[in-house]
Amino acid sequence: MIRKVLIANRGEIALRVVRACRELGIKTLAVYSEVDEQSLPVQLADEAICIGPAQASQSYLKADRILSAAELGDVDAIHPGYGFLSENATFAEQCELCKIKFIGPSSETIRAMGDKVLARQMAAKAGVPTVPGSPDTITDEKQGLKIAETIGYPVIIKATAGGGGKGMRIAHNSVAFSKEFRTAQVEAEKAFNNGSVYVEKYIEEPRHIEFQILADKYGNVIHLGERDCSLQRRYQKLIEEAPSCFLDVKLRKQMGEAAVKLAKACHYEGVGTLEFLVDKYGKFYFIEMNTRIQVEHTVTEEAMGIDLVKWQIRIANGEQLTLRQSDISCKYHAIECRINAEDPEKSFMPCPGHVDFCYTPGGKGIRVDSHVYSDYSIPPYYDSMIGKLIATGETREEAIDRMYRALNEYIVHGIKTTIPLCKQIMLDPPYREGKITTKYMETFLNRIKKQ
Ligand code: ADP
Repeated sequence: MIRKVLIANRGEIALRVVRACRELGIKTLAVYSEVDEQSLPVQLADEAICIGPAQASQSYLKADRILSAAELGDVDAIHPGYGFLSENATFAEQCELCKIKFIGPSSETIRAMGDKVLARQMAAKAGVPTVPGSPDTITDEKQGLKIAETIGYPVIIKATAGGGGKGMRIAHNSVAFSKEFRTAQVEAEKAFNNGSVYVEKYIEEPRHIEFQILADKYGNVIHLGERDCSLQRRYQKLIEEAPSCFLDVKLRKQMGEAAVKLAKACHYEGVGTLEFLVDKYGKFYFIEMNTRIQVEHTVTEEAMGIDLVKWQIRIANGEQLTLRQSDISCKYHAIECRINAEDPEKSFMPCPGHVDFCYTPGGKGIRVDSHVYSDYSIPPYYDSMIGKLIATGETREEAIDRMYRALNEYIVHGIKTTIPLCKQIMLDPPYREGKITTKYMETFLNRIKKQ
């Protein structure tokens, strides 16, 4: 039985886990860096332990300090949230060795699915379509060029250990390939301490559609439908929604079945996400799996009426899934805007700093997941997301109108945020018509620049 959970994270996701544990009657231990002492999850958790200085490499990424805190706090489980150590197979393994439940799949599954080449191989073996590309890691340029010629340009060179859009380069011809190949390797080495890369066909103007999976340790696996995360800037998601207005019943069924098949093939346990690209003809390709809770899990929760974080903890607690695929139906339309401390007018430069005043919107169909409050100082050491605003409606149109209304109520004084940009998007006719591919943001930003 899980009595007490250590939350190895910060910000809104740490708060999300504190809240889920509180509702489940489970005690929480927050770990925090020196600059996060006044943060909301630290204040709201039952206990808190400081694990080091502000830099993530000295605190939230320090597995040994987190495990010492776990020992000291006598916890039974660790929730890793997203980012930081959430997809670190070695950390999950250390938890297993210490007999502390890592709230997520086994270290073996994390290791297999965290390597994008291995994940592609696993998908191909399970009969799930992958983007045409190299079957293995590519070590020399010549080999890469040969594959690029076979699949045809444009191609995308991607980091095997990739994440957050880093180490990804597009090449439109063989001359560009040589340059981009080396750049991708250097970027990957720098970001992940692992310079290995692979090559995929570059799908032109795809939609990014991902399926949420829920799996217990008894082999029961269901999917909770899709999220459309096509609205991205530099491969980073900005606004997500569920369901996707691009999928019809048939395609949803096919993709959902593929997602379940792959989750079963890798003996998945917990919540997870299978990411796909869908081209304009409705052909879908698996690109990667995230073996953790995702930022945008909220839209699935709202559209489906299911608490994913609670289920994640219950599954880790050894409970059997009581939901069957036939129980799952999409009830509402939900949209999430990521509110970032960034200045869209200055190339989205991060704007950490003091929040003089903050007022979060409410009312019917509005949810705000945020750790920020008036007089809070956003530290410069971590990512720039300061909250998530989720609007839910009977229809997509109602969700958009509600989101626009709530964005107008949201007040954050003292720093620049992406709120004004999100407002403009909510009024943009192509967005309202659902014409969103991964190219949307680039054209939208060019359009508003010209106005
Ligand atoms: P990361 O793990 O770094 O987030 P992903 O593999 O999940 O990388 O891809 C992130 C985004 O990059 C996708 O949502 C999509 O916009 C773009 N992308 C990735 N692979 C391709 C591809 N083969 N063709 C076109 N776009 C791609």
